[in-house]
This record gives sequence, C-alpha cells and structure tokens, in this order.
Amino acid sequence: MKAGFIGLGIMGKPMAKNLVKAGYPLCVYDHHEESIQELAQMGAVPCASAKEAAEDADVIFTMLPNSPHVKTALLEKDGVLESMKKGAVVVDMSSIDPTVSIELEKAVAAAGGEMIDAPVSGGEPKAIDGTVSFMCGGKEEVFEKVKPMLEKMGRDVTLVGPIGSGNMTKLANQIIVAVNIAALSEAMVLATKSGVNPENVYKAIRGGLAGSTVMDAKAPMMLDRNFNPGFRIELHIKDLNNAVNAAKAVGMEIPMAEKVLDMMKHLQEEGMGRCDHGAVVRYYEEQENVEVKR
Ligand code: NAD
Repeated sequence: MKAGFIGLGIMGKPMAKNLVKAGYPLCVYDHHEESIQELAQMGAVPCASAKEAAEDADVIFTMLPNSPHVKTALLEKDGVLESMKKGAVVVDMSSIDPTVSIELEKAVAAAGGEMIDAPVSGGEPKAIDGTVSFMCGGKEEVFEKVKPMLEKMGRDVTLVGPIGSGNMTKLANQIIVAVNIAALSEAMVLATKSGVNPENVYKAIRGGLAGSTVMDAKAPMMLDRNFNPGFRIELHIKDLNNAVNAAKAVGMEIPMAEKVLDMMKHLQEEGMGRCDHGAVVRYYEEQENVEVKR
C-alpha cells in the first residue's frame, strides 16, 4: 500500500520514519522543508503540497496541530481532496474537535474516499519507539484496512466507535489528565504551605488509591522544578477548548476541565505556554507564594 504523510512535527516525523522503516512507500509533506528532507534521506518521496503527497496514495495520514490545520490540508487549495484517488482512506491522527472529524468525513466521502479519526496518546518518546496508543473512530472495515499500518507506529490500536469517537476519547483522556495534574498541584502546594515535605507526601501516597500514572510522571518533575515538555500547556489548552466545544454541542458543562483551562490560560499569558503541563503547579505556587521542591 502506498501512503501519503502530511505533518512532520514532533509526533509526525518519528511516526513517518517508522512507516518508512517498515517498508511502506511514503510521499511526505510539511510546511518545513527541513523535515521533508530528513524523511527524503531515509527514502521517502519529498512533495511540494498536500495535494502531491496524496496523489498516488491508498492511505493518507495527517498529523497536524488542530482542526483548522487539518481542514486546510484536506479541503483548501493544493489540498488532499484535489488529488485523492477514489477509495483512498484518510487517517487523521491529529487531536482535533470531534465535530470537525464528522464534518471532514462527509467531505472525504463526497470526494469518493473514506476517513477515520485516529488521535494518539503517548508523547515524542513513544512516537519514536512506535508505541503510541491509537483511539480510532470510523467504519470497522476501513479501520481493519489501515490497522496493520497503525501497528507499525503504535502498540494499542483500538476502534472505539463511529467517526469522531477517536477524538471524543482523546478529549476524555485530556480532561482526566488535566484535572489530575491540577489536583496533584493543589495537594503538593497545600502540603508545602503547611510545612510538610512534598516529596515525602508523594512517597507515602503513590502506592495507594490516590496514586496514578499522572502522579508518577508529574510529581518528580514538579519536585525537580523541571517544566521542559513533555506535553506543552498550549496544546493542552487547545484540547480543553475542544472539550468545552464538544460539551456545548451536547448541552453539557464541564466545570472541572473549564477551571483547569482557566489556570492554563493564565500561565500562557505569563509566557509559560511552551512549558510542560506539569507547570500547573506554578499557578498555585504563585497564589500561595511557596515553591514545591525536594
Ligand atoms: P507540531 O506542532 O510539532 O507539528 C505539527 C506539524 O504540522 C508542523 O511540522 C507544521 O509545520 C505542520 N503543519 C501545520 N499545518 C500544516 C499544513 N497545512 N500542511 C502541512 N504541514 C502543516 O505538533 P505535534 O506535537 O507533532 O502534535 C501533532 C498532533 O498530535 C496535535 O494535535 C497534538 O495535540 C497531538 N499530540 C501531541 C503529543 C505530544 O506530546 N507532542 C502527544 C499526543 C498527541
């Protein structure tokens, strides 16, 4: 199967490399020429547009920041739909608004193609190792067609439901992670302000019910004052905005996610948008004038 790959950023570049290593012929495009050339050196075909990358492809992967970028790459001038073959499958691996995935699937179907949404969890190291988790939405027969290729880039590849379900699952993931980080931050700052060593608090509770993957990933970073990403606050703001929109679409409020979204926006205004999302602890630290550290 021939593939096109659009979006060679932190995640897309190593994922595209894994497809090339697995022997798939790959036509690649990104706004950054350097990233295209890096893939070309491994044997991928460099392209001058999304349209060109999609021309010959049976499967077209996109790994872009957010909904508007995917809309541009698929629908606008020199986009995928101008050249896509009938029966080709678009696999959008970006984390975007699920209502946009549903919209895009209609446009792809009208042009004679199929689409699944397949956002991932796991950051750059897992993209490099080929061990990201895929949460997919779409028709089962389309999913089965592309699953072997997804398995070259990831470990757990799950079909959750119809188109948009992948991104809805990703939003669920992002709400749970955001609220966990905020709860951890709140607790660590309370302990510190009360004169109790936060490292000892972490050691004492990590094996109990409060322990979590989030706690084990983020508490050591907070204690080390290490806020290098990881997952950037600005990307988490994007996901929580998408969650608020998705909630509005079904007439629901998500107060906990909205509160953490406000904290993250405040940190972004202070220039911390590119810090790891563990820097939410800084929000509480600022309010309370203490620092969580070993
Ligand atoms: P990134 O900003 O590093 O990469 C995006 C790439 O898309 C860039 O190279 C940019 O030049 C390119 N691009 C943008 N618009 C384009 C267009 N119209 N045509 C061609 N190229 C275009 O982002 P990333 O960290 O790789 O994230 C990609 C997606 O994966 C996001 O939705 C993000 O939320 C999600 N994600 C990221 C992580 C992570 O840890 N970074 C983890 C899981 C999921």
